[in-house]
Amino acid sequence: MKKIEQITTLADWQTFRSSLPKGARIGFVPTMGALHQGHLALVEKARSENDVVLASIYVNPTQFNNPADFAAYPLDLENDLHALESVGCDAVFTPQESDIYPDGPVARVYELQGLDQCLEGALRPGHFQGVATVVDRLFDLLQPDAAYFGEKDYQQVKVIQRVAELRGGQPRIVPCPIVREKDGLAMSSRNRRLTPLQREFAPQIFEALRFAQEELAVFPVPLKALVREMRGIIEAGGHLKLEDISFALADSMTPVTDPERYLDRYPEPIQCFVSAYAGEVRLIDTHRVVESGHSPA
Ligand code: AMP
Repeated sequence: MKKIEQITTLADWQTFRSSLPKGARIGFVPTMGALHQGHLALVEKARSENDVVLASIYVNPTQFNNPADFAAYPLDLENDLHALESVGCDAVFTPQESDIYPDGPVARVYELQGLDQCLEGALRPGHFQGVATVVDRLFDLLQPDAAYFGEKDYQQVKVIQRVAELRGGQPRIVPCPIVREKDGLAMSSRNRRLTPLQREFAPQIFEALRFAQEELAVFPVPLKALVREMRGIIEAGGHLKLEDISFALADSMTPVTDPERYLDRYPEPIQCFVSAYAGEVRLIDTHRVVESGHSPA
């Protein structure tokens, strides 16, 4: 197994970059560490499409709207390096804050066409501007050809696609499917903070999403009724507290809010977004609940 290169300074990055063969395609996987199979699947996808695979580990302060969440974010560098190495990642960039934020940790303001204001953006003010800032900076520093992002953070993929558009189409953004535990729970670094009991009940989030998909496949359901049933599934047992269930047109991310309108009567596929708390731990998940748009006869 080839040893992974840990790059901690911009000077080291320049040295690494100049050691690469001319024209080598770089695939990039940005992460905040505490890696699991969801992250490693992104590395594997990048491995299959590029000459060099580079990951980054950096817990970005400007995307946390809750300081306690930032403080509690798990760190596990030793294991992360082994895990990345095991899937053939060539190098990992672990920058210092001053490399990312030479003028201090403040988010820039991007024209995100409202993508940062709706859904998860409305629940976490400032979050997506923080994400856009760190990713844009990493793209500037590393100049990858392609960058890999998980659809677990579906709205984030849309935001990053917009950032790439603002950068003139570079790098190519590759969305990758959600990796789940056997019981359906979406893998997340935050799952490590769950108690055994919370962990046992956490799959109810995906159960509710699958229920919505199955329900909508067999008969028309208005949004209000579906949300009521999904809440019941998520909160059963009393270990999860629902924060939000939202729906949006899956391509344009236009929120779907009419409580009475049947969800299978929209012209585009529909994506559902759930956030819930297990104690202090905020969990999110998302799923395509209507596969194809409805065209009126
Ligand atoms: P994070 O370390 O949480 O910032 O995540 C880094 C990248 O991994 C993001 O593109 C996430 O969407 C992606 N990711 C996290 N969890 C999963 C998962 N369960 N399946 C697929 N991608 C994931």
